[in-house]
Formats: sequence, structure tokens, C-alpha cells
Amino acid sequence: MMTSKIIPVDPFDLVIFGITGDLARRKLIPVLYYRFIDGQIPKNSRIIGLARSELTNEQFRNQSLEALKQTVSEKDFDSEQVNHFISCIHYIKNDVNSDEDWDTLQSLLKNAPNTVQAFYLSVAPGLFAPIVEQLGRLNLAENSRLVVEKPFGHDLASAKKLQYQIGNVYKEEAIYRIDHYLGKETVQNLMALRFANKLFEPLWNSNHIDHIQITAAESLGVEGRGEYYDNIGAMRDMVQNHLLQLLCLTAMEPPYKFDADAMRDEKLKVLRALQPLMGEQALRNTVRGQYLGAPDKPGYLEECHNQGSQTETYVALKVKINSWRWAGTPFYLRTGKRLRSQMAEIVITFRSTPHSIFGQIDTPIWPNILVIRLQPDEGLNLSITTKDPGPGGFRTRETPLDMTFADNSGDDWRMPDAYERLIMDVIRGNQTLFMRDDEVEAAWQWIDPIIQAWRNSGTAPESYDSYSSGPTGAVELIARDHRRWRDVIV
Ligand code: NAP
Repeated sequence: MMTSKIIPVDPFDLVIFGITGDLARRKLIPVLYYRFIDGQIPKNSRIIGLARSELTNEQFRNQSLEALKQTVSEKDFDSEQVNHFISCIHYIKNDVNSDEDWDTLQSLLKNAPNTVQAFYLSVAPGLFAPIVEQLGRLNLAENSRLVVEKPFGHDLASAKKLQYQIGNVYKEEAIYRIDHYLGKETVQNLMALRFANKLFEPLWNSNHIDHIQITAAESLGVEGRGEYYDNIGAMRDMVQNHLLQLLCLTAMEPPYKFDADAMRDEKLKVLRALQPLMGEQALRNTVRGQYLGAPDKPGYLEECHNQGSQTETYVALKVKINSWRWAGTPFYLRTGKRLRSQMAEIVITFRSTPHSIFGQIDTPIWPNILVIRLQPDEGLNLSITTKDPGPGGFRTRETPLDMTFADNSGDDWRMPDAYERLIMDVIRGNQTLFMRDDEVEAAWQWIDPIIQAWRNSGTAPESYDSYSSGPTGAVELIARDHRRWRDVIV
């Protein structure tokens, strides 16, 4: 069985703004519990949660207990450990817009023995700047770290403004912008695959790779958050951050070492090398979709209460990278809600062999395809062409070499949630898996003209059926290049 080594961290105070919210309840509290039972949260560490709700410490601890009952597996739910963990949580009622509510937080943190202090902003983006301003005013920002949830801005101008407001109080070295995709085990495995093996890197270029597909599909719709989502859309919600980050990690040059700035320098070069998509080019190389209702589910237009909404719940793009390595190899990205399946993967399709020595055979020689699966069942799959066993002519077949991480890690092994890694990296002071300000701005710089072109066109997104594979326009987008999306193939 594989055992994971727990790297100890110093005792810390983690202050979570928005502790009563959805993210804290579903993710942050459970992942901290998992780190706790793995022995990674040192004694005397404190989790200090803030929100406006009138709750006593005890009431909030009871709410946390309920959250753990709903999210932690039976196997990992140990009442004694849970009680111990919950006693590390302290609740403070605080309205961040008021100047008055800060005394309790100040007195808890003043002269605190813990050397590491981190403030996690798990609140609506409109509250990021006011909270940081308060932290500055109260002298709580000095020597602390700041964790900012997505989205970082709505476009380039707002991202710059937010950066300016946060940058007045925190230095870049203390800011941790979360993109939870970067904490996924498979995404880090992509780094190992590329840079800890000799096998792939010589082939990792347009001489050998025909094209790359990056997909993040969700089966859920906007689920009661339609009005909020209507100001965002799939491009801002998924492409600007998650999909472009995956593209960067797939396409970047080898960093000189696996450290924060070396990695982020290379990702930034990819973002800057993206071929701009503006005006007609943007319309030709992108497809927007919006889901229709299903018999038992409302469509997007009903959910967002805006019959004229042109917000996309699906987007597909053909992206080119202007570099020696990738000239001639397109990247096709797509993401959407209310689709047939819940999955995320990067698919690398290699070029076909230049010549078949087998002459006329009934079965084809398939190109090699490497699938890096982020969910479900994180793992890698490489398909190779082999001979169909047995006599009677020479036939080929496509054979998968499959590595699902959970299968290879023993019965007791549990796939850690991306947030487990990311929160502990904040405590360790390791920014490698967090986005730097120049990356965020470069991504918006590329995204903004596409959204502008859609707006100028005045056209509506194409409708698609709930639980389908998306709009037909997306199939046509890739078919124009005589290629198909992988789920159409398998
Ligand atoms: P949410 O459910 O709306 O929670 C917001 C939290 O902020 C609540 O605890 C709320 O508590 C608190 N709050 C609101 N106004 C406040 C104020 N004036 N002063 C103090 N606290 C206040 O939001 P969420 O879904 O957890 O999302 C939080 C952040 O994470 C957002 O930036 C979101 O974009 C990001 N994010 C969320 C998810 C997710 O899965 N939920 C995923 C990725 C990113 P009270 O009402 O008690 O004050």
C-alpha cells in the first residue's frame, strides 16, 4: 500500500471570512478535518471563522458538526477526532462593512503565539477589497498571508482595480489566488509526467502532436444561482481561470525548477503567446451555448429569470499558441453546464505514423492518445495500437494502458481534495500552485476581446438540450478541421 508522508507545518491561525457560506461548509471545513485526522494540523492551531449570522461559538460548532456528517465518509468520521477538531474552530460575528465589529478578531490575534496567520476570503468578490482595507487599517495584514477565491475580477479593468486595492496592503509574495484545479492530484501529475519522464517530452510539440482537447463538463445547471451566474457566464467562470491554467501547464516550456516564480514565468509566456481572437476571428473560432429545459428541469432562461439573456452556459474555442513548439497544433477547449456527464480531462492526440508497413489491412492504425483525467477517477490513460492476438491475418486493435490513481494506491488510500493541498501550501508559504497577478491580467487581456466580439455581434448563444454533449456548433467547430471531440469518438 502506498503511504503518504505528512510534512509538518508550524501552528497557524487560519481566519476564514464567509465561514457560514457554501464553500466553507462543503469544502473548507471538511478538508481541514481531513488534514487534522492525518495529523497535519499542529496542536494550538486555530480556525477562526467570521460571518454576519448571529451565532454563538457553540451554535457554529454544531453547524460544523452537521457539515462534517454530510461530507466526511463514514470510514473517516471518528467522533473523538471530530470533537477535537471542532474545538479548534472559533466563530466571530462580524459584518465586514462595519468598522465596529473587529475587536474580537483583533484581540484573538493580538500577541497570538502562532507565527503563521492567513486570511481566507471565502465571500462574494465585492467584499474582497473592503476586507483587505480593514485588515490594513487594523494592522492585521503585516506578516500575514491572504487567500483570495475566484473570480479575481470580471474583466481586465476590474482585475487591475482589485489588484491595486489589494496590492496597497499586501505584497505579491503574500497573496494566494486560488484556482482549485491547480491543486488537483492529476494536474500535478501532469508536471511529473512531462518533466520527470524522458518518454514524453521529446514528443511534446507540433511535430508529433496533432491537437489537444481540454474539456470540463458539468452535469449540474446553475442550480438556484441563475441571477448571479447571469452576470458571469462560462467564459469568465471556467475558461479565464481553470481551462487556461490547464492549457498553460500542458503547453509551457520546462521551468528551470518546480518553484513558484519559475513555474509562473513559464505559464505567463504561454498566455502571452495565445493568438488573439478579436472581431470576426473570435466569432469564427468560438461557439457559445445555452441549455434548454428537460422534462423535470427548467432551462437556463427560466432559471436566470431573464428571457432575453445572452449569457453562455457553454463555450467551445479553437486556440492557437504562437510559438515554435506549438505552431500547427490547435488546442480545442470546451466547458459547459447541464451536460451529459460530469468530467474533466486533457486529451493529447499524437500524429499518425508517417507510413504503414502493414499495407492493406482491415483495421486502422489509430493515433496514440494520451488522456489526463481530472475527474472522475483521476488518472492517465495511453492508448496504443497493438496486434489483435491469434492467427488468421494481421489485425490491429486499440489497447489502453490505464492508470487510475486510486487503483494503484491501496484500499485505504483516499484521493485528497484539491483544497487540502492548497490550504496547506498557504500555511507552508508555497505559492507554486497559485496564480500570480500578471497571469491573471494576461488571461483577462486575452478573454476580454472575445466577450466584446460576442456582445458586438448581437447574436444569442446556440441552444442545446439538457444532458446532451452541447451545441451542434461545437461539433462543427472541430469538424471543420477534420477532427472530432473525444466523446464523439469513444
Ligand atoms: P456564499 O454561500 O454566498 O457565502 C458567502 C459568505 O459570506 C457567507 O458566510 C455569508 O455569511 C458571508 N457574508 C456575506 N456578506 C457578509 C458581510 N457583509 N460581512 C461578513 N460576512 C458576510 O458564497 P460561497 O459559495 O461560499 O462563495 C464564497 C466565495 O468563494 C465566492 O467568492 C465564490 O465566487 C468563491 N467560490 C465558491 C465556490 C463554491 O463551490 N461555492 C467555488 C469556487 C469559488 P452571512 O450571511 O452569515 O454573513
